[in-house]
Amino acid sequence: MPERIRPLPSVCRVDFEPADRLRARQLRRLQAAVTLAYDRVPLIRERMGAAGVTPADLRDIGDIVRLPFTNKTDLRDTYPFGLFAKPLRQVARLHASSGTTGKPIVVGYTRRDIRVWAEVMVRTMAAAGLRRGDVIQNAYGYGLFTGGLGAHYGAEALGATVIPISGGNTERQIMVLQDFGVTAICCTPSYFVHLIEAVEAEGLAFERMKLRVGLFGAEPWTEELRQYIQERSGIRAYDIYGLSEIIGPGVAAECEAQNGLHVFEDRFLPEIVDPDTGRPLPDGEEGELVLTTLSKEALPMIRYRTHDITAILPEPCACGRTIRRIRRIGRRSDDMMIVRGVNLYPSQIEAALMKVEQVVPHYQILLTRSGGLDQIEVQVEMTEQVFLDRIADIEALRDRLVAAIESTIGLRVHVTLVEPRTIARSMGKARRVIDNRTKGDAS
Ligand SMILES: [Zn+2]
Repeated sequence: MPERIRPLPSVCRVDFEPADRLRARQLRRLQAAVTLAYDRVPLIRERMGAAGVTPADLRDIGDIVRLPFTNKTDLRDTYPFGLFAKPLRQVARLHASSGTTGKPIVVGYTRRDIRVWAEVMVRTMAAAGLRRGDVIQNAYGYGLFTGGLGAHYGAEALGATVIPISGGNTERQIMVLQDFGVTAICCTPSYFVHLIEAVEAEGLAFERMKLRVGLFGAEPWTEELRQYIQERSGIRAYDIYGLSEIIGPGVAAECEAQNGLHVFEDRFLPEIVDPDTGRPLPDGEEGELVLTTLSKEALPMIRYRTHDITAILPEPCACGRTIRRIRRIGRRSDDMMIVRGVNLYPSQIEAALMKVEQVVPHYQILLTRSGGLDQIEVQVEMTEQVFLDRIADIEALRDRLVAAIESTIGLRVHVTLVEPRTIARSMGKARRVIDNRTKGDAS
């Protein structure tokens, strides 16, 4: 059946609602969410008291700027359940983020929260053209990480067939892709790049499979990487966005226009602020994304600082959805490297590398310090083809990579071409930067 006549699920109607109806709905929900947090969460009540604001002061959606921010440290400081607005007996599920150091961040969901989560994931999948009848291979990790179960419940609520394969075990992933009639896959973009290579190495071809859509998230990735994935595999690659503190995946998603991610803003109210001052910025200007949950019960989040850098795109989208879009997130303020006084993001280096032909998107950035000066080394894998080339050709390739990076970031870097398949493959989020600057050199 042609895709166009497969009807959208009814929960997607709200994505096309007139703006004034949406604003009225947002205000009602904001008032209820803030009242719940104020009544039940001591930290929120205390902060609002200090700011001299009560829930009754929210008469317009713009009044949200009077509310205090919530930060990741607030979740850590009140570990594990200090920001919950419901007692544990009303919490149907807990998830947690894998903290790199110390205790994780714990998030909770009532039964209703889980229904809302499934609903926004249905809207995510529908925006990418998926419908009842699709076969979805869910290669996000199942467990405390929100990716696996978030996508799983969404796929089931969509009416699709879901394969809960979880992450890793590439051989089995390929067998399932090939044999089970899979039409869509959910995983990190870096893992899909690994799958592309593995499929080719086995002498198989995507053209002979039914796969046509990938939903890729959980790490920032570039437009250049999208082009690479789409050209090499022939599928349509969509960016999805979310974070555990807000709900998990399902906060925002690309539609078939692939031009920014629609925020499910009847559920999660987006704002953009200056990352340094916290001052609100108008639509169209780049800054830090701040999100407020409008219907979460167990863990309402008021003006949560995401550290993700983006802008709200005010223009209407070609798809007809009226919910606003954010520009796809290429960087997080947490990922920023300061090298010789210059602010850098891994995505800038990725974009530069992908402009040079004969390069596969496997790379790692090593930061060291010698003689008090920061040094950047970018290790890039050669393709099998390049690896067999003459030394002079390999050196020419290296020079082109150095020039491409230098013209993008304005700094001299050292590029090392490494043998095919020597950079560790990620089964989940890719580790792009290794910063050894704090070790060894005291200067
Ligand atoms: Zn759209």
